[in-house]
Amino acid sequence: MAIQWFPGHMHLTQKTITERLKDIDVVIELLDARLPGSSANPLLAQLTGSKPKLKVLNKQDLADPERTALWLAWYQAQTATGAIPLDASDTAPARKLIDACRALAPLRRGMQRPLRVLICGIPNVGKSTLINTLSAKRQAKTGDEAGVTKIEQRITLEDDFYLWDTPGMLWPRIIVPESGFHLAASGAVGRNAYDEELVALELLGRLQAAYAPLLEARYRLGSTPEQIAAMPDHELLDAIGRKRGAVMSGGRINVQKAAELVLTDFRSGAIGRITLETPPQFEAWLKAGKAV
Ligand code: GDP
Repeated sequence: MAIQWFPGHMHLTQKTITERLKDIDVVIELLDARLPGSSANPLLAQLTGSKPKLKVLNKQDLADPERTALWLAWYQAQTATGAIPLDASDTAPARKLIDACRALAPLRRGMQRPLRVLICGIPNVGKSTLINTLSAKRQAKTGDEAGVTKIEQRITLEDDFYLWDTPGMLWPRIIVPESGFHLAASGAVGRNAYDEELVALELLGRLQAAYAPLLEARYRLGSTPEQIAAMPDHELLDAIGRKRGAVMSGGRINVQKAAELVLTDFRSGAIGRITLETPPQFEAWLKAGKAV
């Protein structure tokens, strides 16, 4: 069963983003480097139209570097500006974004007014972390109270550089079933929108196909990567549950607990650096989704 996620207040966000965009010079679109295709919201492309956009693959420290390189090449071929990989908690690269934004809007009107930048991205992709990282230096320097900065929607990074957070919530838009599972696995959709066991099984399917050695290294199941790759996914989930003590009285596996354990391990990077989708896979899913 596919995951559905249509929060009712999406239209309000659409309105507020449209309103805010009137004054914005550059849009930073934060994507999750572990699911770049699925974490993009097609609505954002519609809303932002011709505004200069900087795509950022955040959480690159949790993503598979080889697949990140594939995605970067793909964005390079698809868009004028390409994409930048980032770990939002890392100060130096985050501050390079400021220069990248300036480079994207060299001809803005007037030149006297500050550059105005909007950060957009689905929940949990790292917007607050990035904003905190970017503003830390200034806060430390000026002794600003964190509370004040937090409640303001606009953050003055430099005298001529203003940053805004997404007004409202830019919820993910699930257009293919695979994306629903990837978004749920990453923690971007509310917990009551999905069944953890189903999501964990789907996640394990991806990991079996591309990261079987990482599964063995994490869970020490005593199997070869080939054996892990060939296991039915529910058997693999059971084996992980048994190994990690997710067992009920009577010796039955607590599948719910095992599923939560796998999801937590994926989200924290404990299984290793993983990217759930490649550009060709994502394109194929889109094509198949459209054909339905
Ligand atoms: P927001 O909902 O978009 O504002 O996301 P947050 O900034 O609250 O981040 C969600 C979670 O992801 C938090 O636990 C962050 O610590 C974590 N996070 C954000 N950016 C990164 C990153 O680049 N790398 C890693 N490893 N974790 C990150």
